[in-house]
Parts: sequence; C-alpha cells; structure tokens
Amino acid sequence: MILRKSAPELALMERAGQIVARANTAVREALRPGMTTADLDRIAEDVIVGEGAVPSFKGYHGFPATLCTSRNQEIVHGIPSRDVVLDEGDVISVDCGAIWEGFHGDSAMSLVVGGDEAATDEVRDLLQVTRDALWSGIRAATVGNRLGDIGAAVQAHADARGYGLVREYVGHGVGRALHEAPSVPNYGRAGKGLKLAEGLVIAIEPMFNLGTAETVQLDDGWTVVTADGSLSAHWEHTIAVTPDGPKVLTARDDDEAYLGLLAA
Ligand code: MG
Ligand code: MG
Repeated sequence: MILRKSAPELALMERAGQIVARANTAVREALRPGMTTADLDRIAEDVIVGEGAVPSFKGYHGFPATLCTSRNQEIVHGIPSRDVVLDEGDVISVDCGAIWEGFHGDSAMSLVVGGDEAATDEVRDLLQVTRDALWSGIRAATVGNRLGDIGAAVQAHADARGYGLVREYVGHGVGRALHEAPSVPNYGRAGKGLKLAEGLVIAIEPMFNLGTAETVQLDDGWTVVTADGSLSAHWEHTIAVTPDGPKVLTARDDDEAYLGLLAA
C-alpha cells in the first residue's frame, strides 16, 4: 500500500530530512585521511541526537550503527568500525537516516577522502555522474509522471558511461517506515509504472560501479561489495512529489547548484 503524506506530515518529514542533511554536512566537513568510519558514525549520531531525533538505521533489523559507511568496492550497508582507517584517495559512501516525530529521512553521498584532487579523473567522474543521475531522477519526479520516468532518467547516465548499474538495491517509499512501497528502481522505461501523485515521498538512490553491476554480500550479513572489486558510488535524497515539482527534503548546502537547476 502506498501512503501519501498530508501537508502536516510533509512538514515533519522535511524536519527529519534536514536533520539528516545536517548530519551528512557535519561528516563531509570533518572528513580527513586518518579518520575511522567509527569516527564518522559518532559525528553523525551526535548531530542527530543533539537535534532530539533518533538514528533510523541503528537497530534496524539489528544494524549496529547510525551510518552505513561503504568504502571503495563496498556499495552499500558497510558497518562503521574503529578498524577501518580512511586513506587519502579512498571513496567513502556515507548513508544516513533520522527519525523526527515518527517520520524518517534518508540520504547518502559518496566523497573522496582528502578532497576531489586526491582522486583520479575516472573516480571523480564516477561520483559526479552518479550524483547527476540522482538529480535527473529527482527532476523526473513530477505529478503525472511515472516511476519508469525516474528509473529511465537515472539509468541513462549509467548507460552513457558504461557503468555497472546495481539492480539488487533500489530506492523506496519513505514515511513512518524507513522502507515503504513503492520500490523505486534505478532503471526502467519512460512512461511505464506507477503514476506519481501529490504527497508521494520516495528515496531515489542510484548505485553505479566502475566495473560489473554484479554484487556480493559479505559474511557480516550487511556489507555489499562489487563482485569484481571495482569502485562504487551511491547518492541518495528523500523527495516529496508536490504540485510545485519535486521537493528535496534532505537537501544540503552543497546541493545548491542542483537545486537551482530544479527551480529553473
Ligand atoms: Mg539511505
Ligand atoms: Mg534509502
């Protein structure tokens, strides 16, 4: 069942989304070589708890942390650890969720440790194209469009570059549950699928790999890696479908240029 949100519910969801945005911004600003992924987790949790909110992921099906931190060939659901020390040039995907008044926000970003200069052009492109794909998907999330329009918009970016597009993990509805109907695949055919209506809130979250699309889950029961060990990128926002266009509930300061395009 798809639960569309009322205006008061959307206001609570925007608050949840902005708490996630603050947590991710704090992580982005603190990120340095030599930090551990447990350090990043602490930073995000301090922001969320400091805002009077609750981490979405901690305890979710037994997940032990506030963030998912996925490094290099890890695609999603990496577990923060004191043993994972970040090196300059590593790609770290940070996924964060928070609950405010019973509603979730969910957002992810992939960053280069030490800044973009520390990465090769190939890696920078992977991160940039995956982020561009997210925003193309967001732009397609308008009243009257269909889920397939979002998937097709995202997929076009991966296809154009020959990236491996992860299919086993997809976007989703967001609300009082972290994962609600509908599933929001990062592939599809324009004009097909569920019609998007006012009040629908979804997370769009492309995961692109430099190599194969094939994934493997590690023995920890969580961490998902690329089958060929190639690098992976993951960007995600929680958005509401509104009569005025898509509203990005988890938007951050560093999204300003994309938000400008959305408004244009
Ligand atoms: Mg997420
Ligand atoms: Mg999600």
